[in-house]
Amino acid sequence: MRVVIFGPQGAGKGTQAQRIAQKTGAEHISTGDLVRAEIKSDSELGQKIQEYNDRGDLVPDEIIIEMAKPYLAQTDAWLLDGFPRNEAQAKALDDALGDLGFGLDAAIAMEAPDDALVERLSGRRASESTGRIYHVEHDPPPEDDPGPFTQRNDDTEEAIRHRLEIYHEQTEPLKDYYDERGILVSVDATKSIPEVTEEVLRAVGEDG
Ligand code: AMP
Repeated sequence: MRVVIFGPQGAGKGTQAQRIAQKTGAEHISTGDLVRAEIKSDSELGQKIQEYNDRGDLVPDEIIIEMAKPYLAQTDAWLLDGFPRNEAQAKALDDALGDLGFGLDAAIAMEAPDDALVERLSGRRASESTGRIYHVEHDPPPEDDPGPFTQRNDDTEEAIRHRLEIYHEQTEPLKDYYDERGILVSVDATKSIPEVTEEVLRAVGEDG
């Protein structure tokens, strides 16, 4: 199973990717997590990409492509979350997979209106110990996750609006890109977390 999952910030792509990886055994590769880990390590690259991340801007294509590439050949079952984010990245992914002799099985587009997304993002928290993502109201952390629970630097209202603009402008056109290749699956992300998971699992033929 080789699948990409994309959607506007707050549609729950990280949450769904985590759940689907857990249920199918596929590797969850999140370029956003790679970016945050690089920033946290305070490496030269991390310092260079921090300003893009904190503003809600995309990290330049050539940097993110080089960061994602090594993971593609590591396992034969993965779910790529947050990559590609534009057509140049989609083409780079096709090229990289072509070199490795694989193809994509599905491209999942998670869809939700902007106003629902802003509400979700403002309540989003990540656990620093487990890396899991929660929502203060809709999906609060369980007692066995010790936290601490923190809000992302780019979950400010200004950065959220900016990221949504970039999504509509650059990432949303990937729906046509993958539709033309016959692998697009659109999922209604306003449904409950388990319902969305079911829909995605059905779409990738992993619903048992
Ligand atoms: P995410 O967790 O997927 O929302 O990503 C957080 C941030 O990491 C984005 O706002 C970008 O700054 C950077 N990032 C993650 N994936 C990509 C990508 N495919 N292309 C460019 N920047 C990315």
